[in-house]
Parts: sequence; structure tokens; C-alpha cells
Amino acid sequence: MQIDSEFELFRDNFRRFLNEYVAPYYEQWEEQGLIPREIWNRLGENGFLCVDVPEQYGGYGAPVHYSLMLVQETAQAGFTSLAVAIGGQSELVSPYIQNIGSEQQKNFWLPKMVTGEVVSAIAMTEANAGSDLQAIRTQAILHNQYYLVDGSKTFISNGHHADLIVLVAKTDPQARAKGISILLVDAQLEGVKKGRCLKKIGLHAQDTAELFFDQVHVPNNQLLGEAGKGFSYLMQELPRERLSISMMALGSMLGAIELTKTYVQERKAFGQALSQFQNTRFVLAQAQIKAKAAQAFVQQCADLYSQEQLTVSEVAALKCFITDTQCEIMDQLLQLFGGYGYMQEYPISRFFVDARVQKIYGGTNEIMKEIVARELLGK
Ligand SMILES: Cc1cc2nc3c(=O)[nH]c(=O)nc-3n(C[C@H](O)[C@H](O)[C@H](O)COP(=O)(O)OP(=O)(O)OC[C@H]3O[C@@H](n4cnc5c(N)ncnc54)[C@H](O)[C@@H]3O)c2cc1C
Repeated sequence: MQIDSEFELFRDNFRRFLNEYVAPYYEQWEEQGLIPREIWNRLGENGFLCVDVPEQYGGYGAPVHYSLMLVQETAQAGFTSLAVAIGGQSELVSPYIQNIGSEQQKNFWLPKMVTGEVVSAIAMTEANAGSDLQAIRTQAILHNQYYLVDGSKTFISNGHHADLIVLVAKTDPQARAKGISILLVDAQLEGVKKGRCLKKIGLHAQDTAELFFDQVHVPNNQLLGEAGKGFSYLMQELPRERLSISMMALGSMLGAIELTKTYVQERKAFGQALSQFQNTRFVLAQAQIKAKAAQAFVQQCADLYSQEQLTVSEVAALKCFITDTQCEIMDQLLQLFGGYGYMQEYPISRFFVDARVQKIYGGTNEIMKEIVARELLGK
């Protein structure tokens, strides 16, 4: 997509929003271990949620690049916990409903997600089933007008604040992939319980929770698409999640390079700025080169996505490359800060700890390599 003045204006507005409503409070949110519920409403009021949702459901119907830009910018500013939160709503859940939901489901959920009245999460992972999603045990058994849901999920982003849980469950517990379906579960339903917010080595302000379902009656009109097709819907929608993760990776790299550039020009050792040492110059130059390559790759994939041509294998290659590169760069840039890089008050330390999970969620990078290898070599 060509970046035009409208896109730039939207980006500037969002940068102003981050400066005003996020920057002054982010450290406090990290200490509390949670972004506040109100930020969702503020994001919604200002038009920064689910921007690609068509106008008839309350959105702008903006190109996907606008939505991706918001997660990139949030990560670039160093607010990765918030980027994950926004991504969960706008990049993960909303496309499922837009692409697979019934008219009734779209009319009910999407406008509320755009305004921030509804916070959403997608719940696939269980304690004993992460990479091997076909092994999930949460069940949703059809009884006339409703599905009876029992089971539990873990590591769910936006889980604590979630009003809507897009739940991946077995409607046929005997089958593997063909027994999987997706339900839109209202978190207010009796029997839905939220566990603790999980303590993590990074993403300290990100709401990551366990969810429990005890004899929950989910109306059968909240089945997403058709029963038994859940696994193929996941395969269809996971590229968008991986594209969003890749955009966050790009944002983080650009943000960390900028921070480091400033630091090495100010900090002195042996009578000169760190930026005068060849090692510093090469490390930063190398980071810049890799970020540029990453940017070209991610833009290409975003364009392919907008033309409905992004394949599972292409985006797997992108997610693996860009998040590996991100972690590598963060380690090298942090090193240039010396001991200060290890101190929480220096934002580079946050870029570093927040990066690590990028190689894990959205499908681990080993699974990404499996996908790429399968295309290269067959099964
Ligand atoms: C902060 C955070 C947020 C998350 N948010 C969400 C969310 O919102 N919703 C959600 O559903 N899940 C979420 N997850 C879960 C995440 O997607 C899983 O952790 C991830 O898919 C890996 O699953 P696992 O943890 O069970 O690891 P496992 O599947 O047990 O994998 C362990 C190791 O084995 C390797 N491995 C597994 N299978 C293979 C194979 N076939 N070949 C080679 N290596 C293999 C993996 O690559 C990994 O290195 C989140 C996780 C974290 C940490």
C-alpha cells in the first residue's frame, strides 16, 4: 500500500493518543500487572479499535494496513503489552467474526468491539495442548438449543478483561481436527470463571489469564460457522495473527534502534561517545539492515494479505524470521547499554524482555519451520 496523507494523519493522531493516554501511565500499569479496563473505552472512543471492520458494523472499513500500523506503532513506542491487547481484539478476534460470523453475530459483537464496550480474547491453548491443538480437551456438547461447555484454557491474552471469549472446543471429543468447533462465549454466562493473571518474565502489563468453563450453557446460535470446521477456520485465520505479531516485531526493532542510537551518542567511555567505537557502529548498522529487510518482508506479506493471497507458509516464514531477528537484535542492542541495559528504568530492558515471547505465541517458531519445511519437502 502507498502511504498517503490520510494514513499519515491517522498515524500522527494515534501517536498523540499514545503520548497522552499511555506514556504517562505505562510504568504504573506494568507494576499493577494489568492495563486498565478504561483504556479499552478510550481506544474505542478515539476510533483505534477494529478499524478494518466495515462501516455497517460500526468500523471505518479501513484497509488492513491501518489496523496493522496501530500494533506496530504501539510496539515501537515500547508499549508491547498494549500492542498485544489491541492485536488480540483487532487482529485476532475481529477477523474471525468478520469472515466467519453470521449476520446476527456480526451485528451483535462487532459494533461493541469497535467502541471498546466489549473486550475480546481467543482461547485455544490448554495446559496439555498448545502446539498440538488437535489434542484439546475442552468440550462443547450440543443439547437442543445450547452447547454445554466444560474445560479450561491457559495463557489467554485479554483473558481477565474479556467480555467475549472466542472458544476453541471439541464438539466431537472422539475426533481430532474434525471434532473441533469455535463458539462465541459471553463471559457473563454462568459457569465461566477467570483465573489469576499469570506472572510473566516480560509483557508485565499484559492481561494473560486462565479461563475455566464449568457446565456453561452457550446458545447454539453462538456457534461460529459450522460445527467440526473449527480447525480449518483456525488455519484460515492464523495468518492474520502471525502478520500482526510480525508487525509488532518490526515496531519493536525500530523503537529499540532509535533508543540505542540516542544512548550511544550520549554515553562516553575512554573519552569518546560509544557511537565512535567501530563495534557500536557495526552493531547498530547491522540492526538497521536487518530491520529494513524485515520491513520489506512484512510489507510484502501485508499487501498479499490485503489481496487475499497470503499463504500459511509465507506468513510462517515471516513470523519465524522476524521474531528470531527481533530477539537477536534486542540482545545486541541491550549490550550497548552495558549495565544500564539490565535496569528496568531503561526502556531497552523492556524491549528485551517483551521480545522473547514473540518466538513462542501465535505458533512457536519450530512449528513455523515445520510449516515451511512441509511446503518445501512435503510431509
Ligand atoms: C504471553 C502469552 C500469550 C499467549 N496468548 C494466547 C492466547 O491469547 N490464546 C491462546 O490460545 N494461546 C495463547 N498463548 C499460548 C501460545 O500460543 C502457546 O504457548 C504456544 O502455541 C506453544 O504451546 P505450548 O506452550 O503448549 O508449548 P508446547 O506445544 O508444549 O511446546 C513446547 C516445545 O516443543 C516444541 N514442539 C512442539 N511440537 C513440536 C513439533 N511438532 N516439532 C518440533 N518442536 C515442537 C515447541 O516448539 C516448543 O519449543 C500465549 C502464550 C503466551 C506465553
